[in-house]
Amino acid sequence: MEKPVILTLDDDPAVLQAIARDLRQHYGDRFRLVRADSGAVALDATQKLKLRGDTVALFLADQRMPGMSGVEFLEQASAIFPTAKRALLTAYADTDAAIAAINNANLDYYLLKPWDPPEEKLYPVLDDLLEDWQASFKPAFKGVKVISDRWSPDSHALRDFLARNQIPYRWLDIETDPEAQQLLNLAGETVDQATHPCLPLVIQEDGSKLVKPSVTDLAQALGQTTEAAKPFYDLVIVGGGPAGLAAAVYGASEGLRTVLIEREAPGGQAGTSSRIENYLGFPVGLSGSDLARRAVTQAKRFGVEILSPQAGQALRSEGNYHFVTLSDGSEISSHALILALGVSWRRLNMPGIEQFTGAGVYYGAAQTEAAACQDEEVYVVGGANSAGQAAMYFSKFAKTVRILVRGESLTKSMSQYLIDQI
Ligand SMILES: Cc1cc2nc3c(=O)[nH]c(=O)nc-3n(C[C@H](O)[C@H](O)[C@H](O)COP(=O)(O)OP(=O)(O)OC[C@H]3O[C@@H](n4cnc5c(N)ncnc54)[C@H](O)[C@@H]3O)c2cc1C
Repeated sequence: MEKPVILTLDDDPAVLQAIARDLRQHYGDRFRLVRADSGAVALDATQKLKLRGDTVALFLADQRMPGMSGVEFLEQASAIFPTAKRALLTAYADTDAAIAAINNANLDYYLLKPWDPPEEKLYPVLDDLLEDWQASFKPAFKGVKVISDRWSPDSHALRDFLARNQIPYRWLDIETDPEAQQLLNLAGETVDQATHPCLPLVIQEDGSKLVKPSVTDLAQALGQTTEAAKPFYDLVIVGGGPAGLAAAVYGASEGLRTVLIEREAPGGQAGTSSRIENYLGFPVGLSGSDLARRAVTQAKRFGVEILSPQAGQALRSEGNYHFVTLSDGSEISSHALILALGVSWRRLNMPGIEQFTGAGVYYGAAQTEAAACQDEEVYVVGGANSAGQAAMYFSKFAKTVRILVRGESLTKSMSQYLIDQI
C-alpha cells in the first residue's frame, strides 16, 4: 500500500524547503511528502492524488500567499479529502486570521513560524493530529474505478470483464454515490443527467481516464496480452475454459510452444461458478474464479501464452499446418490445433428482453451483479446447477431469490447437494 500523504504548501522557497526537510525527517518512514509553492499547484496535486486513489492525512499550508490564501486552499482541499487534518503555518502577524479560520473554516490547528526546534514546536502538535487521523483512517481503494449508472449494458460488460479476469475494481453508481460525481468533476467531465455522455468512465490506478472504453480498449490499457508474440506455434488452443486450460498445461509441459486464445476470460463457464464442490482434489470446494486463477498460473508457469480478450474467427488447414484468423484480423499458424469452445448461454426467448440485457437482465453474472442486489428481489430462470449456484450466491445479498423452473422438479436437472442447500 502507498503511504498516506502529507501535503505542505508555502510560496517562499526557503521556508518550503525547510519545512519539507523537517517533515521528511520525522514522518518520512510512514508518510509521503508532497510539496507545492502555490495554492493552485497544491490544488492540482490534491485532485491528482484523489483520482489515483491516494490518501491525504495532513495539509499544512502557509496563510499569506498570492492568488489563494492558505485558508482558501484548505477549504477547497477538505472538500476533496474531508478526513484529512488541516493546519496553518503562519507568521506572528497572521495569528488573528488563523484563529478566525479555526472558528470559521473548522481548521484543526495553527502553528507559528519559525518552528525551531521542531521537536518542541512542530512534531508534538502534528503527532497529535496524525494520531487522531490514523484512528479513523480507512485505506482508500487503489485500483480501477468504473463510474456509470446501474442500468448501463456497456458498464456491465466492463465490470463483467474485470470481475471475470479477477482485476480488482470498484464500481461507483453516478446516481447514488456522491464520490462518483466528485471523481467525474476531478477528471474534467460533466454529466448531463439525462444522457450521461461520458459514461461509463474508467479511472485507472495511475489516475488516467478512459471515456466509454470498449472491453478491448480497457484490456489493452490494463496491459492484458491480446496479440500473439509469434506467427507460428506447435499448439494453438481456441477456448480458455477448463478443457482449453488443461490442454495448454499438458501441451506446454511437454515442451510444445503453446498459445491459448480466449474471447472473454480464462476459466470459461467454470470461472463464473460461485462454488464448485465436485472438483477432484478440492474436498471443501473452491470458487470458479479461484480455479481459473490457479489454472492460469499453472499454464503460465509452463510458458503458455494467453491472449485474452481475443477470439478465433476463422480456420483453414493447408497440409500439416492450421491457420487461425483472430478477431483483430491477424493470423497465427500451428502444427496442432485444439478447439475447446464449450457452450454459450441459452438465450431467454421472450419479447422485448434484448433491450434489458446487461441492464437488469443478465446471463450468468452472479459474481458481477450480486453485490448491487442488496435487499432487492432477484429472479433466477433455470432449474439446473448454474441456476442453483447463482440462487445460493444471490441469497447472500438479495432480500428474496425466486427460482423459475420449467420442469416438474429440481431433481431431474440439479445436483442433490445444491437442492439440499436451497
Ligand atoms: C455457473 C456455472 C456453474 C457450474 N458449476 C459446476 C460445478 O460445480 N461442477 C461441475 O462439474 N461443472 C460445473 N459447471 C459446468 C462446467 O463449468 C463446464 O462443464 C466446463 O466449464 C466446460 O469446460 P469447457 O472448457 O469445455 O468449456 P467452457 O467452460 O464453456 O469454455 C469454453 C471457452 O471457450 C471460449 N470461446 C468460445 N468460442 C471462442 C472463440 N471463437 N474464440 C476464443 N474463445 C472462444 C469461451 O469464451 C469459453 O471461455 C458449471 C457451469 C456454470 C455456467
